[in-house]
Amino acid sequence: MPPALVFATHNAHKLAEVQAMLGAGFLLKSLNDIGFEEDIDETGSTFQANAHLKSKAIFDRFGLNCFADDSGLVVDALHGEPGIYSARYSGSRDPKTNLELVLQKMEGHQERSAHFVSIISLIWEGDNYFFEGRVEGSIIEKSRGLAGFGYDPIFIPKGYDLTFAEMEATEKNRISHRSLAMQQMLEFLKQQS
Ligand code: IMP
Repeated sequence: MPPALVFATHNAHKLAEVQAMLGAGFLLKSLNDIGFEEDIDETGSTFQANAHLKSKAIFDRFGLNCFADDSGLVVDALHGEPGIYSARYSGSRDPKTNLELVLQKMEGHQERSAHFVSIISLIWEGDNYFFEGRVEGSIIEKSRGLAGFGYDPIFIPKGYDLTFAEMEATEKNRISHRSLAMQQMLEFLKQQS
């Protein structure tokens, strides 16, 4: 039986992405699987603090090996916004409303560089470790594509012509911020066994 690892998220898209990356080496459990239905308030002022809050909440309650990620879109011309507020930038959790707000604030801007970042906080055998992944790119002027989630339809990773929402899931998963952070965590986990 592979070792169990709880991913402290309620986001089904993220869970599917991470499950695809982890393969059969670990038994990935969601918050639903362990019967945790509350929302964990993200009251930190950095991605790192928020990731830690989530993993610690699960570890304190269940004592299980677990990890959480905090991720978001950082747009240079918007001084780092939406950043840690990516999930609720407009005040609403509706991804389309949030994406439209970014497009609106970016109107007239020539400088359109941005990156996605993902910080993972892993609590393994009681100790906390952090991993970071980042993907550089730019914000386009109008949404394109239907796949993925969040800001995927307005983000083109550097070196590509397609938005994240126009790519095959396997392609996005290969280059995404979450995948880069996950790969580092997997390297770490391999060394533990
Ligand atoms: P979190 O769940 O607190 O990490 O919030 C992440 C938010 O950042 C999501 O709700 C999305 O709005 C945005 N985000 C993070 N990763 C991605 C991605 O891979 N594609 C599109 N949006 C993302």
